[in-house]
Parts: sequence; structure tokens; C-alpha cells
Amino acid sequence: MEKDIFCKIINGEIPCHKLYEDNDVLAFLDISQVTKGHALVISKKHYENFLTIPQEEMHKVMDVAQRIGQVDIKYLGAKGVNILSNCYEAAGQTVMHFHVHVIPRYEGNEGFILEMKQNDGELNLPAIAKAIKKEL
Ligand code: AMP
Repeated sequence: MEKDIFCKIINGEIPCHKLYEDNDVLAFLDISQVTKGHALVISKKHYENFLTIPQEEMHKVMDVAQRIGQVDIKYLGAKGVNILSNCYEAAGQTVMHFHVHVIPRYEGNEGFILEMKQNDGELNLPAIAKAIKKEL
């Protein structure tokens, strides 16, 4: 199977600006730097995304993401942080290896637009809630 780019970073085949590493988790700067300090936290074991990674592994990644977010606020001058994980192409996932973005937000920051538009259609909320709830 072809290795994805994050597997290559884990193996040291591709360089990165490393922030943190232990046996299970690696964190490094995103090459695109949506804002200053934009970080990626990944599981060393290959899982496709947040929806397919076992909980225990996911918790280790989220723990590191939380700590990086705290550092962004305390020491990098960030006023806020977006923590996000895209799952599958339809949601913007481009690297099919579980990762969490930690994106510091600054005052007057124009590098990032997170706009959630209200759906204009008439949605049947009770039916939608029922369909999701019965599978949880
Ligand atoms: P996503 O679109 O959620 O799958 O995010 C993938 C992210 O990986 C993008 O923000 C890319 O900028 C980032 N990326 C891709 N290749 C590299 C690399 N070699 N080093 C650091 N970040 C990378």
C-alpha cells in the first residue's frame, strides 16, 4: 500500500517542524500555516480519520492538541484556538491519516474564515434527531 505523507513524516522520510513526540503521537507545524503556529497532531499508527480511530488512540492525540492550544493562548499571543478534524473528502480531508488541526486565532486575523450558514430549507428536526439518536 502507498504510504501517505504523514506516514513518511513519522518515518523521517520527510522533514517537519516538530513540536512534540512520544510513542503514539506526533505534533508538527502545518506547512500551510493558516495562522502563525497552526499545528497538526497525528497518531503514529495509521488510521484514516477521527471516525475510524479507536477511542484510546484518539484521546492521546486530543490530549496533545489541548496542550498545544493552551500554549497558543498562554505564550503565543493567541486570543482563541480552533480545533478541527476533517473527515473524508466531502469535509475537506486531503491527507487520509487521522490528524487534528490546532489553529491559533489572533485579533484582526484574516487568514481564516469559519462560516456556518443556516440551512435555508425546511428541515424536519424531530425526524433527523430520531434517525441519529436511534443509532447512538
Ligand atoms: P486536511 O485538509 O484536513 O486533510 O489537512 C491536511 C493538512 O496537511 C493541510 O493543512 C496541509 O497544509 C498539511 N500538510 C500537507 N503536507 C504537509 C507536510 N509535508 N508538512 C506539514 N503539513 C503538511
